[in-house]
Amino acid sequence: MNNRECMGKEINKFEMIFPAKSCNEKIARAVVSILAVQIDPTVSEMSDLVTAVSEAVTNCVIHGYAGYDKEEHNCIIKMECFLYERAVEAIITDYGRGIEDIEKAKTPLYTSLPDMERSGMGFTIMESFCDDFSVESEVGKGTVIKLLKIFGGENLCENTTTPL
Ligand code: ATP
Ligand code: MG
Repeated sequence: MNNRECMGKEINKFEMIFPAKSCNEKIARAVVSILAVQIDPTVSEMSDLVTAVSEAVTNCVIHGYAGYDKEEHNCIIKMECFLYERAVEAIITDYGRGIEDIEKAKTPLYTSLPDMERSGMGFTIMESFCDDFSVESEVGKGTVIKLLKIFGGENLCENTTTPL
C-alpha cells in the first residue's frame, strides 16, 4: 500500500493565515492537534505531528522573513491542513527570503544562524517525524513545506518495517 492508500478519504480541511510572530506557533500547534484528535492518534503520533508543524512554523518566523522590514512587508504564514481518515497533511508557506540551497539547508546540524543558538535540526526532525516531507523554495518568493503524518502507519504501510 502506498501513502495515499494508507491515508483514506479526505474528511475535513481548513486554511489559516497569520502574522509571522513566534507567539502564533502555539496557535498553529493547537489547531493541528484539535484537527488530528478527531481521528484518534496515539500520543506519540500526535507529538510527532505537532513537533514537525512547530519546527516548520518556527522556521518561517525565524528565517523566512529575516531582515525584512515588518512595517513594509506583509510577513504572513499560511497553514493549510487536510484531515484524512488515517492521516493529517499540513502545508506551511511563507512569502519571504526563500532558500538558496535546499539540500544544504536540510543537512543535519546545518544552520545559517549559529550565533542565535539554533541547532540546525529543524528539517531533520520534520523529515524523521513524518511519513512524507518536502521543501519547495524560491529565493525572494518564499518557501513551502509539506508534512504528512499517517496514523497507524506502522501497521498499514508496506514502506515501514513491521515485525512478523
Ligand atoms: P533549529 O531548527 O534546530 O532551531 P535551524 O532553524 O537553523 O535550527 P533548520 O530548521 O534545519 O535549522 O533549517 C536549516 C536552515 O534552513 C536554516 O538555518 C535556514 O538557513 C534555512 N531555512 C529553514 N527554513 C527557512 C525558511 N522558511 N525560509 C528561509 N530559510 C529557511
Ligand atoms: Mg529550524
